[in-house]
Amino acid sequence: MKLKNLRIELVNLPHIRTPVEIWRQNIRPIIWKRDNKECTKCKIKLKLNECHIDHIKSGKLGKNKFINLRTLCQRCHILRADHRHQGMIDNALKKGLIPPNWRELVWEDETEL
Ligand SMILES: [Zn+2]
Repeated sequence: MKLKNLRIELVNLPHIRTPVEIWRQNIRPIIWKRDNKECTKCKIKLKLNECHIDHIKSGKLGKNKFINLRTLCQRCHILRADHRHQGMIDNALKKGLIPPNWRELVWEDETEL
């Protein structure tokens, strides 16, 4: 592929993604209500503005399809084993959201969709 064409493709990429506004306004409340307004891991009740919508399969395989999304509380979301959450863990430790022995609490979901 010529460099000129490649550049055009890169410029067009952001349009494929779901706009953040649509995500916040539409998808979040739907997943939250479907999951009975509670954390699907520890079952504590969550307000809409407290819930974290987690991608069960993340990365390239994890699209914003409803079946791939679930409601988690902040703590369970942070403690889900995912190397991309490392930054969240550092932050949560500083804020005291998770205990120093957080490694013993990390969980992984092997569910295949
Ligand atoms: Zn939880």
